[in-house]
Amino acid sequence: MTPRIPRLWTVTAAAILAASFLVSGCGREGASSGNSGGASPSPSGASADQSMPAPAADQAEADPSPAAGSGLAPGSSGTQTVPVEPDVGASGADAQREPAAGPPEADRIAYLTFDDGPSGNTESILRILRESGIKATFFVTGKESETDKELYRRIAAEGHKLGNHTYTHDYTKLYKEPGAFMEDVRRLDRFLQETVGQGSDILRFPGGSNTRLGRRKGEPWIMPQLVKRVRAEGYQYFDWNVTSTDAAQAVQPKADIISSVMALARGKERIIVLMHDVTVKKTTVEALPEVIRGLKDMGFRFAALDKQSFTTQFLKSD
Ligand SMILES: [Zn+2]
Repeated sequence: MTPRIPRLWTVTAAAILAASFLVSGCGREGASSGNSGGASPSPSGASADQSMPAPAADQAEADPSPAAGSGLAPGSSGTQTVPVEPDVGASGADAQREPAAGPPEADRIAYLTFDDGPSGNTESILRILRESGIKATFFVTGKESETDKELYRRIAAEGHKLGNHTYTHDYTKLYKEPGAFMEDVRRLDRFLQETVGQGSDILRFPGGSNTRLGRRKGEPWIMPQLVKRVRAEGYQYFDWNVTSTDAAQAVQPKADIISSVMALARGKERIIVLMHDVTVKKTTVEALPEVIRGLKDMGFRFAALDKQSFTTQFLKSD
């Protein structure tokens, strides 16, 4: 695990991006919302817009990942070295019966999650998921282009779950006070309702439920209030216990993405894997087939999240 060193880095990075959000808000194409001035020259038109701001958002999401590795998760480290041995050692000939009692790896489930889409990578991700025969979850934000609208519809039509990642993903607005956050969440819900015909009852906080952005602005109370508020308003929220590290930098090497997922999945029965659906992050797409294959080899099956699913929450609501 690498939580220690990155922490300093993370703080710096988060500071930088907090600043950058003031300018741009994540992945928002200047088009829609009132993100004041899209100020700086984004090199090209529509699709490239995402490549600039998006990494910023992602790095914020990378922020909590040390916490993900930091132990409190139930099945995280200690328990099972190799799940098979108890049966073998248990009672020789009877060993065949024992597995029925609940071999730990028989029900390993991986929930792949893709944040910040749709993007120029969504179609590729959907194709890989289709070819692999698996379902996943997309925590999306609000993007109004016809191309994007079609992608929301395709995500849903192909049997994946759409999750709410707020409309604007704009930390400076979202984490000012709970009312503003909820309004942004509802805005995305309305948008999905209009676009896809269904809203969503699952949610991922931009930056994770333990995002430090509110606190940095001198509002340490906001996240504890928010987690309660979203639950009270009928949403379940999901952080992650496996990070792909694809947010560690704009383009993380494919090998690092794969090795992080494999290492963090070890010993866990339920994993929620954080990845990003962001145009610039091509290596996430390149790594995906191997991530899926590797997890399958470890005995995982795959499912989309729903409100009742296993969840990992950095900050609890009760
Ligand atoms: Zn995000």
